[in-house]
Amino acid sequence: MAKTTTRSCQPCTACCDGWVSMNINGVDVYPGKPCPHSTGKGCDDYENRPVQPCVEFQCAWVMENSPLPEWMQPSNAKVLVVLDKLQWHGASVDLAVPVGKRIPPRALNWLKQFAETHGRPLIYTEQVIENGKMSKDQNMVGYGPEAFQQEVASWVQSGKKLW
Ligand code: SF4
Ligand code: SF4
Repeated sequence: MAKTTTRSCQPCTACCDGWVSMNINGVDVYPGKPCPHSTGKGCDDYENRPVQPCVEFQCAWVMENSPLPEWMQPSNAKVLVVLDKLQWHGASVDLAVPVGKRIPPRALNWLKQFAETHGRPLIYTEQVIENGKMSKDQNMVGYGPEAFQQEVASWVQSGKKLW
């Protein structure tokens, strides 16, 4: 969870609740397994939270001068966005992960429009469901130039991880 800027995280706790796969002080956090410090309303050890990933995590909605509209707060739009996750042929690539199984159509359409308008390739993910339950794994989908889509597809085949 980020420090409060002009936008306040609450009531969102999406990044602490496993929608971003991470390891907190040796404990794996992933969909269905929130951080042990998440109370569902915040962090019970905020002052001692790890620098990586907690302090340095860049949630696009809460950052200063966020291009994301108000309704895109992760708890509301059911998507968590990280800008500039990586570079592809000189272009900034944004990443969107669902807060749930899939990014809802309204949010995904907004992200695709944003990608087209600003010439920023987008990677979005979908939870892999196994035996009716969310697994640790996510499918990656590339949105942008054909060559970018193909490269993301090759990353999926090779098992490349983004976190
Ligand atoms: S996902 Fe973003 S808005 Fe939600 S708690 Fe984390 S930093 Fe705050
Ligand atoms: S340590 Fe605190 S800020 Fe970091 S993921 Fe856990 S609940 Fe969130």
